[in-house]
Amino acid sequence: MPLAGWLSLLLAALVLAACGSTAPPDRPRAVRATPPAPAPGEACMRDLTARGVIFKALPQPVSVGGCTLRDGVSVEGMSAAFIRPVTISCPTARMVDRWMDEVVQPAARRHLGTRVSTLHPAGGFVCRNTRGGKLSEHARGRAIDIWGFEMANGTKAIIRDHWRGAGARSRFLQEVGQKSCELFHVVLGPGADADHHDHLHMDLGEWKLCQL
Ligand SMILES: [Zn+2]
Repeated sequence: MPLAGWLSLLLAALVLAACGSTAPPDRPRAVRATPPAPAPGEACMRDLTARGVIFKALPQPVSVGGCTLRDGVSVEGMSAAFIRPVTISCPTARMVDRWMDEVVQPAARRHLGTRVSTLHPAGGFVCRNTRGGKLSEHARGRAIDIWGFEMANGTKAIIRDHWRGAGARSRFLQEVGQKSCELFHVVLGPGADADHHDHLHMDLGEWKLCQL
């Protein structure tokens, strides 16, 4: 073997020794993987948990009668217990929790000197159209209807009974209605039409409207 051949053999042996490995060069190497970014639904549900919302994650997606709910949750309580669980999308639940903390509880303290202990929701995810024939925001899980509130001292403030009037319960409900419009996209109350004579409708759809 010529000298150049011996030198290249020697060089190869030195390289192998330096690497400390005789593994074939094409062996796949494990590298530290970056975990995938959480899906928006997972991140939202983590937020709900961190905020102390009591809920169950629903199978994804929920399909009922041609309507599909993505990132659906069944909410049982937040700063107030829900008199019955409500099915809504996770982002809607997150906004309802903010609404309870930033709007409802402060208004209850201000006007009634107490806090809301139980929320009376009237409906969340429902597969239906609006009167105008468009798909309701309820059919996407982006809307919730509220019938009334029960305070820690047993007082009840019910939209149908106390929306109008001069009492503290009316002032509480009116403030809740007005400030709901700052958080939700559409808020409809008894002044909107006969369909809303007994509840507040709040949604996170594509329109902006505040009719109380
Ligand atoms: Zn509604």
